[in-house]
Amino acid sequence: MDAEQLRENGHKMVDFIADYYKSIENFPVLSQVEPGYLRELLPDSAPNQPESLQQVFDDLQAKILPGVTHWQSPNFFAYYPSNSSTAGFLGEMLSAGLNIVGFSWITSPAATELEMIVLDWLAKLLNLPDDFLSAGNGGGVIQGTASEAVLVVLLAARDRVLRTVGKTALEKLVVYGSDQTHSALQKACQIGGIHPENCKLLKADSSTGYALSPDLLSEAVSHDITNGLIPFFLCANVGTTSSTAVDPLLELGKVTKSNGIWFHVDAAYAGSACVCPEYRHYIDGVEEADSFNMNAHKWFLTNFDCSVLWVKDRNALVQALSTNPVFLKNKASDANMVVDYKDWQVPLGRRFRSLKLWMVLRLYGVENLQRYIRNHIKLAKQFEELVAQDPRFEIVAPRKFALVCFRLLPPHRNEDFSNKLNHNLLDTVNSTGKVYISHTALSGKYTLRLAVGAPLTEERHVNAAWKVIQEKASVLLSEFGM
Ligand code: PLP
Repeated sequence: MDAEQLRENGHKMVDFIADYYKSIENFPVLSQVEPGYLRELLPDSAPNQPESLQQVFDDLQAKILPGVTHWQSPNFFAYYPSNSSTAGFLGEMLSAGLNIVGFSWITSPAATELEMIVLDWLAKLLNLPDDFLSAGNGGGVIQGTASEAVLVVLLAARDRVLRTVGKTALEKLVVYGSDQTHSALQKACQIGGIHPENCKLLKADSSTGYALSPDLLSEAVSHDITNGLIPFFLCANVGTTSSTAVDPLLELGKVTKSNGIWFHVDAAYAGSACVCPEYRHYIDGVEEADSFNMNAHKWFLTNFDCSVLWVKDRNALVQALSTNPVFLKNKASDANMVVDYKDWQVPLGRRFRSLKLWMVLRLYGVENLQRYIRNHIKLAKQFEELVAQDPRFEIVAPRKFALVCFRLLPPHRNEDFSNKLNHNLLDTVNSTGKVYISHTALSGKYTLRLAVGAPLTEERHVNAAWKVIQEKASVLLSEFGM
């Protein structure tokens, strides 16, 4: 590493990225390239001799950026947001600059200790029960993604129950969630060796606002116990991917508690909103949970990746995931004086990810973070009002946070036709490059999703998005003589 070369080239790279952000609105938000476009533009093999940074910049402009979908564009309303911010970016830079690998405390004490402190800060901001703080038996850990978070707690829960009932009972273990639960749960079950039929996704439809019914869970658990199965894990949602449905944590917790079931809460998207006192009630009942997860990289201005997981019993993770090879032995670990995060996750190596969350909390402060969330929710509410004013559209699910689920409602209510129409609308809207929205299915209805959450989005962008949607809807309806 030549420090002076880094200084010179680093400045150029920061300029490149700053210019990108300055002109980000000029790019089509959804990349318009065809599959395989890049192979035709790049050589077949790596260069033998070094090339200049300028040559790379030229290729970035001409060949890479056209194939980028601009998640940080103010016109990006698809999926859920994946926030970037100046503070988050600087934290990433610092993490790349120090480039430590903090698997054990000894490999970089500050990395472990800062992570513990920052996650205690965030737990307090969310008003999580003290059991989740590192002072007791619990604590927080940064995973890469919510998928990794649910996997590691599922493995911890599996290990805990198998230690009681015996390893041969794996085939009998049952996992529950609603049918609105993210597919990350299914993947965790696949990896965890849970029998495919024992990953039970219970129906949650419009009658409960797409939330899991505690009665349904209770019935399923009793039924499974009667049939000789062993219920051991529930993944509840605060803010489902399709429609931001919120499961009733308190009532679900009663069912899990009386049946010895590990209770995990997936608040990957909506958890961020709960730093605002007026939205905190959505996680009421979290005191019943064994683990709680939110993605700071979704809606908390922390660059990808930063998925925060808290557990009440860190030993459950350690017992399921620790290995202790001779080449990693050291005094601090042997004396049991420290946290070794390698035992709380799947990989051994880990980045210094707490730096970016620390910088976000320090450089913005709680009040600004709350204002940020509130502004997005306000903009989503405005969009919802615009949709509600146009009789050609309907709101498909109640809005709680900054996601609006809506669809075009053709005069004759044939469901197949309606689904095709909305699919067409999505494609035509996104092919303009002016706006990017995504879709889901709710009760069999093809539904459009507009999630406000990009840091640069202002009211004008939301209004412009609605204009594009309305214009394209008019064109489509006129094609069908409507
Ligand atoms: N859970 C919920 C509610 C989500 O919305 C998502 C993704 O959007 C996930 C889990 C999976 O997230 P990740 O990509 O962090 O695994």
